[in-house]
Amino acid sequence: CGIVGYVGPQSALDVVTAGLKRLEYRGYDSAGVAVPADGGLATAKKAGKLVNLEKELADRPLPAGTTGIGHTRWATHGGPTDANAHPHIDNAGRVAVVHNGIIENFAALRAELAERGHDLVSETDTEVVAHLLAEEFSVCADLAEAMRLVCRRLEGAFTLVAVHADEPDVVVGARRNSPLVVGVGDGEAFLASDVAAFIAHTRSAIELGQDQVVELRRDAVTVTDFDGSPADVREYHVDWDASA
Ligand code: GLU
Repeated sequence: CGIVGYVGPQSALDVVTAGLKRLEYRGYDSAGVAVPADGGLATAKKAGKLVNLEKELADRPLPAGTTGIGHTRWATHGGPTDANAHPHIDNAGRVAVVHNGIIENFAALRAELAERGHDLVSETDTEVVAHLLAEEFSVCADLAEAMRLVCRRLEGAFTLVAVHADEPDVVVGARRNSPLVVGVGDGEAFLASDVAAFIAHTRSAIELGQDQVVELRRDAVTVTDFDGSPADVREYHVDWDASA
């Protein structure tokens, strides 16, 4: 029910977990994070409250990274278990994705992926996206382009945010019928389902439009539609009270 993404000079884990806390009011049943670091991709996820995830991170610390994504889940497909918690990863463990919403055509995509030899390990509608992103990335080696290609095959409502071990300085997001806001900082950038997650860091925001994909780098935010055409972006100032 909440999503946070970060790329910049700070500890991604600190920024992302603090952001998830700011989104707790939305309600959730599980939480997780992913950080591309040291050439690989590290993830942690736990059913239950954020404190369970924090305990997991204390017991099994992730490598330090400055790019990361986080998620709080409100289960729609598959019960609230550790395995069904997000992020979901591909079989090679190179790409991680978090999702709010519902992928309506997931059953057909799941069957198709299973036929091509993918091993799906959760009961979620979301997991197909990790596998599809891995397939597309293996051809184009560009996470934003892989996301655009995958989104064109999805039906339903989704906010998707992904990271890839081979593009460790990039976070990619996409949205259809579900909110996603970019926070533009000085040498850093944020993604969240709600500005509350990042207003402690920046008040410059960009609201993603319907069927758009955003690529975040430390000093560049690029927005396109699902076909790759550049989109008009309007940066605005968030002036509501942070203490509210
Ligand atoms: N449909 C997805 C799931 O059940 C995402 C739920 C959500 O919006 O948190 O895992």
